[in-house]
Amino acid sequence: MAGLQPTSPALAPAGIALSGTAPSERTPSGIIVTTTHLERSSAKRADQEWLDAAWADPRTRVLVVHQGKALARVGGGAAELVYLPPERAPEGVRFLLGTDADGVAYFGVGAPLTAAGAGGARPAGLREAGLLLSGQEAGLLTHATALANWHATAAFCPRCGSATEIAMAGHSRRCPADGSEHFPRSDPAVIMLVTDSDDRCLLARNVEWPQRRFSVLAGFVEPGESAERAVAREVLEETGVLVSTVSYAGSQPWPMPHSLMLGFRAQATGTQIKVDADEIAEAYWYSRADLKSAVESGEVLMSPSLSISRWLIETWYGPGLPGS
Ligand SMILES: [Zn+2]
Repeated sequence: MAGLQPTSPALAPAGIALSGTAPSERTPSGIIVTTTHLERSSAKRADQEWLDAAWADPRTRVLVVHQGKALARVGGGAAELVYLPPERAPEGVRFLLGTDADGVAYFGVGAPLTAAGAGGARPAGLREAGLLLSGQEAGLLTHATALANWHATAAFCPRCGSATEIAMAGHSRRCPADGSEHFPRSDPAVIMLVTDSDDRCLLARNVEWPQRRFSVLAGFVEPGESAERAVAREVLEETGVLVSTVSYAGSQPWPMPHSLMLGFRAQATGTQIKVDADEIAEAYWYSRADLKSAVESGEVLMSPSLSISRWLIETWYGPGLPGS
């Protein structure tokens, strides 16, 4: 499918949906998430008095986001976001991201990035920095990127074309002409690990990917379609393989610009492969031994270790997949 990459920065194993997960929080069998994530403070979004006080508080931290990037200090195998105090924040679309355990408020502002280079900071996006940020900051950047992407395309009412106004601390927009309210969208996409009766795993190369890059299949959920049906349809369309059982595994926000990746395991009823050459260049069944030797020889290049595609493969392979 066009536009969906096999890589992403934040991971959601074991059926827990979240945004932004550091490698240290992740295990093949589970994940600890809540303690390191900001409280989204949804109840504060309509409380203008609280919002004004938070914006006047010098402890408040503002993350400026532009075209999927924020200022970060990157180096030494780690990254940290660079915040501004409210009085130094640029004009732009403002949205509340949440509050941390110390009660410090975090806002995002959609505006061009300035002050690049100060203290070694430079613009960085999720693809680059998602792996390196703490769990809280990866989640924060994911949330801010998703909201900024939405605001950038939601300036006008889809019903009547009037300019819309920001509402709910940047979590909705309202049309002053017809009163309609509009919310950020997430487009559901499915990504699935298919196995056969010999417990081999189906990996494919998208026509747009470089040679030797293989991953699990993925596709968008169509209107009026369940996620499970989308899994079965995409597998059949792209590889000609029929699947029987489909079970949910975990999800990953992927605001590029606004997808939510829903991960599944699926069981194939046959092994005959017939690729749809429009989207898939080649696809093969791999036993664990096949995959191990293919990765070790360089015949197969795996997805980066923090992507949900990689995680799905690891849940099948078990510990010790080469290249981890
Ligand atoms: Zn309108």
